[in-house]
Amino acid sequence: MKIYSISVFFLFLSTFSISQDLGKETNKIYPDISDLYFYLHQHPELSFEEKNTSQKMANELRSIGFEVTENFGGYGVVGILKNGEGPTVLVRTDMDALPVVEETGLSYASKVTAELNGNEVGIMHACGHDVHMSVFIGTAKIVAANKKNWKGTLLFIAQPAEERASGARAMLKAGLYKKFPIPDYGLSLHTSATIPAGKVGVTSGYALANVDMMDITVYGEGGHGAYPHTTIDPVVLSARIILALQTIISREIPPLEPAVVTVGSIHGGNKGNVIPDEVKLELTLRSYTDEVRNATIEKIHRICNGIAASAGLPKEKYPKIFLRDESTGSLYNDPEMCGRLEKVFSQTIGEENVVETKPTMGGEDFAEFGRTDEKVPIVQYWLGTVEPELVEKANKGDLKLPSLHSPYYKPLPEPSIKTGIMTMTAAVLDFMKP
Ligand code: ZN
Repeated sequence: MKIYSISVFFLFLSTFSISQDLGKETNKIYPDISDLYFYLHQHPELSFEEKNTSQKMANELRSIGFEVTENFGGYGVVGILKNGEGPTVLVRTDMDALPVVEETGLSYASKVTAELNGNEVGIMHACGHDVHMSVFIGTAKIVAANKKNWKGTLLFIAQPAEERASGARAMLKAGLYKKFPIPDYGLSLHTSATIPAGKVGVTSGYALANVDMMDITVYGEGGHGAYPHTTIDPVVLSARIILALQTIISREIPPLEPAVVTVGSIHGGNKGNVIPDEVKLELTLRSYTDEVRNATIEKIHRICNGIAASAGLPKEKYPKIFLRDESTGSLYNDPEMCGRLEKVFSQTIGEENVVETKPTMGGEDFAEFGRTDEKVPIVQYWLGTVEPELVEKANKGDLKLPSLHSPYYKPLPEPSIKTGIMTMTAAVLDFMKP
């Protein structure tokens, strides 16, 4: 596996001069970054509990020469490095892992467990945030060591609680753009579980969706299962509501506007012969534009209330709809920046290793850094992490690749992290060209 990855890597190096210097520097720092990666992989921490990880990030940035602020918006870390007059560029990594038991079988698999809601759970970097952190520190090292090649201010931030869609907002709320320079550009990357290691993917414009989590409690009037006529059955009401919700996307939202309404959880009652008083539904909603998002939420209210009314329920027993404070705004990748990045990436790792990726309905709270009044243009690009041979097999239908968040997701460290460092460093240097 290793021999393969190194040979792929030297292939880039021999073709492009810009990648030659960058490739050399990346190779030089890689042993340290590799140690960091394996450490992070084996010491994952859940959202809001990234104490050790954030200290590690802070110490690394400090040792590189950044001025570091810790515990900013939870366990957030902000590193500043000034080098004369010029643009401010934000580079962001996230730090949290997931309550997933690692099943990759790797020698360095995580064995960490923690208590979550009273249960013992395994913890794993199943979303690749350990790769993100390794690239982040590698980029910081190379950029800081090459001050003659850039001017301006680096704003390197390590964000907690991405998986709970809270960390970005917490750092912004703590005053990221008030207490530190407002960025002219914002950059981050995310591991891809479908793109081969050695490649990156760029999606211009809307790339990831608005994500909303909604809870609906459907009320009824419970009673004996043998006498349904004396009850108002919330199970039947819920079934009607769930089916009616499907018509929002198919009949009410314009066909060319992407949106999703998924009811992922339904719970009601305890016994076959008892009609319960209530049923609880959990939903996730996805969209790109705020208009579609707001319209979808409004239509859900209308449908729920209408169906409750048709069942003869009084107004005070109409379904209770609660939008959780876990929403993420959609990610809009600035098209001008994307054009520039595609060029820089092509020069750095070869045109054939830069792929155009389609937007998805997933979400990532990096989007929030571009959604404030400051309107900072941002881009998050995809970093390939999968063994190329496996991607080929998957394309032929011979196997199914594990997705992000899967206990089987195993990024190929060396070529993925090196490609991440090279592309991110080249991007930062390009946006800060003197
Ligand atoms: Zn993630």
